[in-house]
Amino acid sequence: MTDHQFDLVVIGAGPGGYIGAIRASQLGMKVACVELEPALGGTCLRVGCIPSKALLEASEKFYSAKNSLSKFGVVTGEVSLDLPAMLRHKDQTVATLTRGIAGLFKKNKVSHYQGRGSISGPGQVIVTTNAGEQTTLSTKHILIATGSSVAPLPGVELDGDRIGTSTEALNYPEVPEHLIVIGAGVIGLELGSVWKRLGANVTVLEYLDRILPGMDSEVAKDALKIFKKQGLDFELGTKVTSAKRDGDTCIVECEGKEPIRCDRVLLAVGRSPNTEGLGAETVGLNMDRRGRILVDDHFKTNIEGIYAIGDVIPGPMLAHKAEEEAVACVEMLATGYGHINYDTIPGVVYTEPEIASVGKTEEELKEANIPYKKGSFPFAANGRARAIGKMEGKVKFLAHAETDRILGVHMIGSHVGDLIAEVGVAMEFGASSEDLARCCHAHPTMAEAVKEAALAVDGRTLNL
Ligand code: NAD
Repeated sequence: MTDHQFDLVVIGAGPGGYIGAIRASQLGMKVACVELEPALGGTCLRVGCIPSKALLEASEKFYSAKNSLSKFGVVTGEVSLDLPAMLRHKDQTVATLTRGIAGLFKKNKVSHYQGRGSISGPGQVIVTTNAGEQTTLSTKHILIATGSSVAPLPGVELDGDRIGTSTEALNYPEVPEHLIVIGAGVIGLELGSVWKRLGANVTVLEYLDRILPGMDSEVAKDALKIFKKQGLDFELGTKVTSAKRDGDTCIVECEGKEPIRCDRVLLAVGRSPNTEGLGAETVGLNMDRRGRILVDDHFKTNIEGIYAIGDVIPGPMLAHKAEEEAVACVEMLATGYGHINYDTIPGVVYTEPEIASVGKTEEELKEANIPYKKGSFPFAANGRARAIGKMEGKVKFLAHAETDRILGVHMIGSHVGDLIAEVGVAMEFGASSEDLARCCHAHPTMAEAVKEAALAVDGRTLNL
């Protein structure tokens, strides 16, 4: 007879859940992970970060082959699109990585249960398969890592085809003639960019008078200019009230504007936590008005033995934030210590150029009355950026006016999603901008722009 007794049952095998399960097992716990979907990896691996990055890379290759390789002396002849092959590359990437998690579970002795996990009481999780078979797991601790789903918008009638979410936008069978994107957030800009590069007319409708809410507004303004130059159309201050299908087209209505006809609609106005069928009401978990599970500093819910991390609790909905929380939570369970520094969690938008940030924005510093100094350095003055033809963008440092401690860094430029990592590490060690400016950076690299921006805080750039 199988023993269904565990130290920890993790519900959800997204980046938070699977990483938490592996770390707990490394720490000596007997761990099970329950996942509804046949493929492991959650939204991020199956229908989020990974497939979108595969398409972002492929569409950028297509775009540059068509439009910008000639200036490097590369003559291609006519470039054409094989969309099925592009989608196949994406699907193969996803398949390899999701299978990889199954392998990691085996290696780390994490028991995988496929089905919906529902908490029937403290220490008890019922797994129900699609066929309706049930297994009851007994456990000391439960970690909820069920993630989030696309938030609906009243009036927008999702049909799983022409009016869809990011999931459909990762699989359009042909390049839309006119794609309307609702929401100029991360998903709208990333997937809007993909289809623009492949030849669609893309209109982004955004309720606010800016794009990328929450990001440093100076960098967001730079981004808007660049995206407009790339041919994306933006209608800011536009509230979408409905989207309906009309045969093979769609009609989108906005407050105070003429309806717009298009052939596909991508809804990207945020995500909501997944708590349906979880048994949250049965056990009486405290949740906020947005349906997020409330936890304390150690990810403990109001019910003894039940913890939650990732998109299902408040905070930025980011895979790497969920991973860090999961590790901190299970380390706390196993050792009594577990820590996470929310001030050093980077955020990256994988458009071209990329946008990356860590720490406080200039607006946040102003609002909190924190005195700061600012230093910026443009990629146009960076040798490597010139050599590779990626001169757009800049690095912007915000450091404390008295102590010089780095408070926030915001970048827009090619590969800044990778460059932001060194700043996160520096901030984690409490570095000043001078500390970073005194570190040797290889030449010629894009990373030299980070060093120069740190020098700029003290008004002493060397190459500008
Ligand atoms: P978002 O919250 O980033 O942006 C949604 C946008 O929709 C906002 O700008 C909002 O003002 C706008 N909006 C809301 N209602 C509207 C209306 N009626 N009409 C027009 N505009 C409206 O949401 P998202 O892009 O859907 O992303 C969801 C989550 O997934 C975010 O938390 C994001 O951080 C995360 N995500 C992250 C990455 C990444 O890190 N690269 C990639 C994809 C998704």
